[in-house]
Amino acid sequence: MTRIFGLTGRRLPIHPQPLSDELLTHWMVRVAHANGMKVQTFADRLFGYPSSFWARDQDKMANLHVIEKLAEVTGKDTDDLMDLTLKPYGEYLYEKHNPNGNTRWILPLGVYHRTRFHGMQFCPMCLRSEKPYFRKYWRLSFYVECDHHQILMMDSCPKCQSPAMFHRSELGHRYRRGYPPIVNCYRCGFDLSWAGPTKYPWADQQAMLLMQTVIFCHFRKQAFMQDRHFESAQEFFDVLYILCGRLGSAQVAGELYEWVQHWIRPEGFTPVNRKIRMFERRTVLERASILEAAAWLLCDWPDRMVLAAKDIGLKRKHFRPEFGQADTWILEAMPLPSSYVPFHRNRNN
Ligand SMILES: [Zn+2]
Ligand SMILES: [Zn+2]
Repeated sequence: MTRIFGLTGRRLPIHPQPLSDELLTHWMVRVAHANGMKVQTFADRLFGYPSSFWARDQDKMANLHVIEKLAEVTGKDTDDLMDLTLKPYGEYLYEKHNPNGNTRWILPLGVYHRTRFHGMQFCPMCLRSEKPYFRKYWRLSFYVECDHHQILMMDSCPKCQSPAMFHRSELGHRYRRGYPPIVNCYRCGFDLSWAGPTKYPWADQQAMLLMQTVIFCHFRKQAFMQDRHFESAQEFFDVLYILCGRLGSAQVAGELYEWVQHWIRPEGFTPVNRKIRMFERRTVLERASILEAAAWLLCDWPDRMVLAAKDIGLKRKHFRPEFGQADTWILEAMPLPSSYVPFHRNRNN
């Protein structure tokens, strides 16, 4: 049973409104602090002592039990609270939301084989506002540039390189009054809003505009590519995902990255780590470089991709989607197999 809070029964005395696109966990930190509780105390009271709530990626898990408990103590609507999680992205960005494993376009958090993931991006300039908070879309792997400030997103503290973990910033502050600001690095206390902004050096204007359109349209759950309109945003994002996965991979198609760079940065470029398989596990800078290359290939569709396929020797098999998923329109640019017989010729025979 949920513990009784405050004077009004189960309801907490103070329950702040979620801000636009605020992450569920960030809103929870605000609720806890507004009611004079540390975030761990809040979780212990809601889910039982000692709660392992903060050890998991709760925004991705989108657990209904958690949402219902929160709705109960804050008086909010369960659907409205579910909207603060990452689950709704599954309605238009990808096929399957995987609460406990890898999910397309969602940056991972936590530790895996001693690798700590830096999946909580932030824009230092957005954090300088009067009411700084962490947004949902900062967890998306294609969101590499703040659409408001046009600066590269950051994925670690510039002073100690630790990932951003706003819910842990109160660690080590046990006996002090109040709570340290959520913009402080949980490890060294550096104010992340003071991190120096960096501009991504786009080499191609057309690719930059396409990526900015992608970011703009995703907020409307739509996708456009020059004069091509897609019935569902996922139709576009599926192809972008295949390209981001193949660009810079260890396979033949990985040569595509260098191929594009020779066109857009003939004076020289930094290669990406070809050992990393998953796009979501790359640094923000590598993701930006790969997205730029993908966007460049999608411009003047399908001419650039047709040329790349011819030069590198790419085949349809290099761009097949994951097992169990339907082929995508990227195959339009791939050479037809030698065994292919056009339907009309077949009929005339
Ligand atoms: Zn910003
Ligand atoms: Zn730090």
